[in-house]
Amino acid sequence: MDNCLFCKIIAGEIPSTKVYEDEKVFAFRDINPQAPVHILIVPKKHLDSANEIGEDNLEDVAACFAAVPKIAAAEGLSEGYRVINNCGAAAGQTVMHLHFHLIGGKELGEKIV
Ligand code: AMP
Ligand code: ZN
Repeated sequence: MDNCLFCKIIAGEIPSTKVYEDEKVFAFRDINPQAPVHILIVPKKHLDSANEIGEDNLEDVAACFAAVPKIAAAEGLSEGYRVINNCGAAAGQTVMHLHFHLIGGKELGEKIV
């Protein structure tokens, strides 16, 4: 996708702090971390948001979730963590390339759900 920030990060055109990569997934540290560990897990295939998850890309999305416990272990999140997706403007999505926030490394406080 032209002009997509995360596609450019995946392509190495914009620098990032990579923590994990495989055939379908790229993961890097959030530039504005909300916790000691705040990692963005993104499918290499461009999807605008969770609204585009479907039969054509289940393997890409599943690969993101398969990466979660690997990254959590590598980051030492044995006490627990959260995985968050913001879908759409009303939910606060600011980058229109599907991504999952992996957050941990502190007491995460009040839950929304
Ligand atoms: P969201 O608001 O759910 O769309 O999340 C987008 C996230 O991308 C925010 O937490 C930003 O801090 C993060 N972000 C924006 N630009 C960059 C960047 N160049 N490198 C790493 N994280 C970024
Ligand atoms: Zn993209």
